[in-house]
Order: sequence, then structure tokens, then C-alpha cells
Amino acid sequence: MLLTTNSEAETVAAGRELGARLGPGDVVLLFGDLGSGKTAFVRGIAEGLGIDPDEVSSPTFTIIQQYAGGRVPLLHVDLYRLESKEVDDLGLDELGEAAVVAVEWAERLPWTLEGATRVSLRHEGDDRRVLAIDRQ
Ligand code: ADP
Ligand code: MG
Repeated sequence: MLLTTNSEAETVAAGRELGARLGPGDVVLLFGDLGSGKTAFVRGIAEGLGIDPDEVSSPTFTIIQQYAGGRVPLLHVDLYRLESKEVDDLGLDELGEAAVVAVEWAERLPWTLEGATRVSLRHEGDDRRVLAIDRQ
């Protein structure tokens, strides 16, 4: 599915719609440049899971954050600062049975994940972003 958003709030809303449909063990892989809206989309996923979206941020040195308080916990992974071989050591493939897992900078994963939803975000100037959401 392709959609265009014209504000951060619209990208959050798109994440919320997806988040409302997710359950334990679901994985969302996010692709796109810095500032394309990946974290905004994850904030929406959190909201769709019933988690306070204000908890979702992009801290500089945290690779994995866990947010509780919703109907399913959310693991928020940001691979921006990692090399592929370090990603391998995280044990991501064993993380997520009881949670929803959202991975920013998924292009850094050294392997593919079967059954994951893929979300690619692209800048289209100013506040416009094009989102390609590929739900397996
Ligand atoms: P990323 O995690 O991909 O680096 P962020 O979600 O942290 O991106 O940041 C996106 C930035 O772009 C924010 O400053 C946000 O306000 C701005 N922005 C402008 N338009 C949009 C839009 N349509 N969707 C998402 N973010 C937008
Ligand atoms: Mg981010």
C-alpha cells in the first residue's frame, strides 16, 4: 500500500492504524533516510497498541527500548549506529515472541525476517512523505 502524508501527525496516524492491527510476535521493519519519519511512525504504532506515544523518542545511545502500558509491549530498535556484525550479536531474532518489534534502519539487518511488515518512507520535499507499507 502506498500513501502520502503531509505532516508528522498524518504519519503518526498511519502508524496508529497499523499498530491497532498488530499483536505479539509481529515485526515491523522501517526503511528510510534520517528525518523520513520512522520514529514518528513508531510513535503511531505505540499509540495503536495503547502505549503513551510520548514515551517514544530517538535517544542517541540506546539501541533497544521497551515500552509497556499497552495491550502488547513494544520493543523499539534503532540500528543507526551499528555495524552489520554488531547487529548479529543483538539476538534480535529471539527478542520478540511476546512483544511487537519495530526496527528503524532495517537496511542494516544482515538477514531478512520472514513475515515482517515492511515500511519504507521517502522524503518528497518539505512536509511530504511517501510511505510504502507492505504487510505480509
Ligand atoms: P527518522 O526517525 O526517520 O529519522 P523522525 O520521525 O525522527 O525521522 O523525524 C521526522 C522529522 O520530519 C520530524 O522533525 C517531523 O516533524 C518532520 N516531518 C515533516 N513532515 C513529516 C511527515 N509528513 N511525516 C513525518 N515526519 C514529518
Ligand atoms: Mg528515528
